[in-house]
Amino acid sequence: MTDQPQYRDRSVLIHGKFKSEKWDFEDHITPPVTTSTAFRLRSAERGAEGFKQFANPELDRATTHPIYIYERLDDPCQGLLEETLAFAEKGEIAVSFATGMAAISAAIGIHVKAGDHIVLHKTIYGCTYGLVTHWLKRFGVEHTFADFLTPGGLAAAIRPETRVVYFETPCNPTLDLVDVRAVAKEVQEVNDSRTPNERIATIVDNTFATPFCQRPLTMGMDFVVHSLTKNLGGFGTSMGGVVIGPRSSETELLLFRKDFGGSIAPDVAWKVLNYGVPTLALRLERQQQIARRVAEFLDLHPKVKNVRYPGLDSFPQAELAREQMRDIDGNFAPGSMLYFEMAGEAAESYERAVRVINRIAERALCVTLAVSLGQIRTLIEHPASMTHSVIPPEDQMRAGISPGGIRLSLGIEDPGDILSDLEDALSRA
Ligand SMILES: *Cc1c(COP(=O)(O)O)cnc(C)c1O
Repeated sequence: MTDQPQYRDRSVLIHGKFKSEKWDFEDHITPPVTTSTAFRLRSAERGAEGFKQFANPELDRATTHPIYIYERLDDPCQGLLEETLAFAEKGEIAVSFATGMAAISAAIGIHVKAGDHIVLHKTIYGCTYGLVTHWLKRFGVEHTFADFLTPGGLAAAIRPETRVVYFETPCNPTLDLVDVRAVAKEVQEVNDSRTPNERIATIVDNTFATPFCQRPLTMGMDFVVHSLTKNLGGFGTSMGGVVIGPRSSETELLLFRKDFGGSIAPDVAWKVLNYGVPTLALRLERQQQIARRVAEFLDLHPKVKNVRYPGLDSFPQAELAREQMRDIDGNFAPGSMLYFEMAGEAAESYERAVRVINRIAERALCVTLAVSLGQIRTLIEHPASMTHSVIPPEDQMRAGISPGGIRLSLGIEDPGDILSDLEDALSRA
């Protein structure tokens, strides 16, 4: 995709690569969806060649005419989506997965073995927390949750056995930002004194911001992961995930996907490729505009203790937000997610949050009580009792997830209608 530098990103995200080795239907404007679980191999020799080529580090997947074998290994729609997502994040390669969690498992999984150690920022998606604390721990991989926002917090947690540094920015659900360039620099300093085998890989979950709002690989990160279920898919119709990173990791990612089996369904890859990615800029611009209006409204509301939205001047890391969150045209891009806390002490604030959520669930058209995020529909949820409930209360407090905290993912409804649904619920809280 990097052979089209004369076009702006938003155009390339709509058209994808004009010519591709991935399919023979060059007159189609929309790439065809193919859902064949197995592929005819034509001859013993070609079959053998296909197996020799799969995940072969000596072949450039983007330019080699592929011999498809079996859908779990590789498929034309997966490949087309991967090329486009690698372009979107400015990475060398992308490997797609069945869900965001399958992608996160692979991104971490290819870097660790028993005895190794991972450092994560303390505020993290609930299932990533579960993956690390329950499963990876059981396989002998240790972890430390550190505070990447405190100077020295990350450095103090790094051990000789550390192989992965992992975080989200903005964090789910608190919208705290991690300074990507600062983390890159700190880890680089450690890596400078290590052998290649001991090298620490940096992984960022960029699901909240999307490549529309920031591209962490251009700020020194090694890997970006996404839940395609969210804003990259955009319409809430299917689940998917992706890992984007250096070409040197492609073989391991493909083998991990082959053997753990978390391949994306080709018709899902096709939907993300044809509906999600081409409309990303359009949706995000609109959602972001609405998010800012809602944030300003909540900021002034007497029933609301505080609002966290990177686009507000009152945002504690407003300066970092302006530096780091830039859209594909270079404009400030604080995103479509916000978090706010209901007024009152813990118990009262919690009761208020429950009342708001229940009123919305009962009455609202434009705000829906549901987990997930990054859709054309506005979604609201209560992290402490829902998405982040697997995290024990003490850890929730440490991660800044308050009992009366509410997460909002803005959609593309009429902003006045969204505000009136929120006002109706807040006025009764
Ligand atoms: C939803 C989400 C995931 C997990 O993605 P799935 O597609 O649900 O597996 C990971 N990280 C973040 C930040 C998410 O919001």
